[in-house]
Order: sequence, then structure tokens, then C-alpha cells
Amino acid sequence: MPVKNPKLIVLNHNLARDLRLDPAILSSRGHAFFSGNVLPADAKPIALAYAGHQFGHFVPQLGDGRAILLGELIGNDNQRYDVQLKGSGQTPFSRQGDGRAGLGPVLREYLISEAMHALGIPTTRSLAVVTTGETIWREQRPLPGAILTRVAASHIRVGTFQYFAARGDQNGIRTLADHVIARHDPDLTHQERPYLALLAAIAERQAALVARWLLVGFIHGVMNTDNTTVSGETIDYGPCAFMDTYDPATVFSSIDQWGRYAYANQPEIAAWNLARLAETLLPLINPDPDKAVAEANTIIEGFAERFTSHWLNGMRAKMGLVLKEPEDISLAEEFLTLLHNAGADFTVSFRSLSRAIAEDPQVSEMFGEHAAQFKIWATRWRSRLTREGRDPKQQEEQILSVNPAVIPRNHRVESALDAAVNDGNLEPFQTLFDLLQKPYDINAEQSDLAQPPTQPQRDYQTFCGT
Ligand code: AMP
Ligand code: MG
Repeated sequence: MPVKNPKLIVLNHNLARDLRLDPAILSSRGHAFFSGNVLPADAKPIALAYAGHQFGHFVPQLGDGRAILLGELIGNDNQRYDVQLKGSGQTPFSRQGDGRAGLGPVLREYLISEAMHALGIPTTRSLAVVTTGETIWREQRPLPGAILTRVAASHIRVGTFQYFAARGDQNGIRTLADHVIARHDPDLTHQERPYLALLAAIAERQAALVARWLLVGFIHGVMNTDNTTVSGETIDYGPCAFMDTYDPATVFSSIDQWGRYAYANQPEIAAWNLARLAETLLPLINPDPDKAVAEANTIIEGFAERFTSHWLNGMRAKMGLVLKEPEDISLAEEFLTLLHNAGADFTVSFRSLSRAIAEDPQVSEMFGEHAAQFKIWATRWRSRLTREGRDPKQQEEQILSVNPAVIPRNHRVESALDAAVNDGNLEPFQTLFDLLQKPYDINAEQSDLAQPPTQPQRDYQTFCGT
């Protein structure tokens, strides 16, 4: 079903070029392709089937209910990418849904996924946004319809494996696993135990990914197995949000009533999701069921250690350190405890460590009545820095290069989306987008986006209603 009046309102020129597409041509004719009204000549669009555990409950059939995979492109890096339209209409997997998406959530995904990319975090990308000229209805309210063009190394999820497992389709699982190996882990093709190695490779990517999330205060919000990629890319930007004040129990999503997907639970949930993946691979891992379980378990049980290793290396970098010392974990944890006690802003506090090397008194003042506690911690930290024997200027630069000055602050995202959706004004969106493209830039510190929100701005909730 063609949409009424497609208009291209956002185009990612850099990504277009990376995909060997011509931004000038897309600017004039892209609306037809990005709305699905016209298909590229050689495209054979499909909707993907998948299953998934949603908040712990298994649903044997989900699938692309409002997304269509147009096909694949080879990028400048010679890698293969999926190009998918999201919000383009009903598919065989739409169930009761309309297959459509609203402009607000589409712009939100565009903004946050590209901000994640600029932060250096693996993620699906956003190529374009079109408005459809049609109205969609959400909770009895009319909203402008829109379609996002999403680009991913692949759209294969843990839930894709679960789909075949739920049907007892062993051949399906093997075909899928071989496809994933060919696409993401070609080095494993000639391994003696390719499927065990595949599980380990996916676990490693998830460990690295979730560590990166925690290091920037990202809360995914809906880590269901159908939203967990085997490529190790962040996918599904429904209810995600960035934490302001440091609190490990932070939850933004209105539907996450029990805090299953709270900030600090994310590594444990990733391991749980990988265990669900492992279950589908058992017969491929070893024909002896007991041995298969034991071998898969070694990988699942090793996840915590893999995660911690990535996280701790990231924390060291955030604190300006390069060498490894056993006390580093307690140094990092003590700083986080201090942030928690002081109700300090996660992003601002880490960034300010660059100034704390030279004992800038403004930094300790930031911690208010916890200033004394900060000074004790900072003394220990500075002697640790000194033991590295590096130039303090270099350490300062390192801190600035890994601790972002700006993140997509929730209140700013909301006001930019509000202007776009309610006033048709894309300027605040564009300004915010541009700032988020250079999160580590020294100039970004001058932006008001670098300021933590005020208390009322902090009371924030996200909704899955996309
Ligand atoms: P999500 O919460 O985005 O992970 O979506 C969960 C499932 O619901 C997926 O199978 C989606 O394709 C489907 N879905 C979400 N919104 C719609 C919609 N408006 N129409 C049809 N399917 C939808
Ligand atoms: Mg999803």
C-alpha cells in the first residue's frame, strides 16, 4: 500500500556515502524509495520471522510487524548491510498492529542511534526519515505518520534462532547458524567446533556492547531476546534513555514495572538472553545432550568475566589510566559509590576528572557535602595516575577523549521532538543532532546540553508505544 504524500525530511549524507549511495540523488528522489512507494529495481522485500522472550515470557511468533527488509548493500568498507524500512505498513507478522510508526518515535530512533554511533558504540544506523502525509492513531490521539530507513550489519536476533527452535526445526537452526557464521564470523567456518565458537563470538560481542552501554549511562529499556542482535549491534530504540544522576537502579520505561531492565541489571540480562540462544544451539554444539549443556554453560558462565573485563578497561580509560593494577576495580567502584551518594550527574562527573588531575577546586565543590569524600578518593586516584609515569596533559586528553561532554539528554530530546511533531519545526532537532555528532569535542562543553537537567526535567518516563 503506497503512502499518501511521502516527504523526505531527514537524510544522513555521511551514511549514504558510506553505503555508496549518492546523497544528491537521494535528496531529490529518495522519498519514493524511503517510503516504500517505489522499490529499487532488484529489491525483493521480505518481512523477517522471529520469536522472543518479552520480559521473560516466551512468544513463539513475533516477526517484523511493521518493517520490511528491502535488501542488502555493500558499503565502502566492503561489509554487507541490511536496509530496512520501519513503519512502512502491515506484514504477515503485524498481528493487531497497523504496521505504521509515528514521527516522534522515528525521529527519536534516528537521533539516538546516530548519537550512539558518534559515541563509538555498535548500533543499527539511521539513513533517512520520511513523513507519510498520513495520520496514525496511538491511544486515541492522532500523530503524523513516518518511516525510518534503518541500516544494520544484519537484523538477526536471538529471537530468530528461537523461532526455529520453537518449531523443532533443526535444519532451520543449522541453516541460520551457517548464515550467521558466513556473514559475521567467516573465520569460524573451518573451526572444528564452529557452533560452540559461534556462541562464544556472539557472547563476546554482547559483553563488549553492554559494557559500552554502561560506560555512557545508556539504558536500553527493552532487552527482550528479540531485541538482542547476534551482530552485537544495539537495536530497537523504543524506550531507551540515558541516565543523568548516577543510580544503578535507574529505569525509564513505563512498562518495566519491576525494573527487570534497570541500568545495572543489563549485563545479567544479556547473559540470560545468551542462555536462551545457547538452548537453541545445543544439538549443533554436541550430539551428546549432557556434553552440549556443559560446553554451552562454560560460555554462559564466562560471560560475567568477559563483561567485567570490558567494563573495567573502559573504566580505566575513563579515569585516565592505561596500565592494569588489581586495585582499579575498587577505585572505579568507589567513585561510582560517591556519585550515587552525592546524587551526581554521571556524564558531568566523569568528564570533570580531566580538571581534577590539576586539583581544580570547582570539581570537589560539585560534590557538595560529599566534597571531603571526593578529595579522599581523588588523592588515591592521583597517586595511581602518578604511578603510570605519563604526562598529566596526556592523561587529561585521554579523559576528554572517552568521557562525552554531551549525551542525548532526555529533556532536550523531548523538546526537539515536540517542536518537530507539533510545530513542524525541525530546527531544534537538527541543532541537537549536530551537537551529538561530536560528543567528545571540547567545544561541546560550552553547549547547554552539557549541563545536567534540573529536578523537574529529571522526572522522565519513556513509552514503548512506537
Ligand atoms: P518492539 O517493542 O518494537 O520490539 O516490537 C515488538 C513486536 O511488535 C515486533 O514484532 C514488532 O514488529 C511489533 N509491532 C510493534 N509496533 C507495531 C505496529 N504498529 N504494527 C505492527 N506490529 C508492530
Ligand atoms: Mg523490537
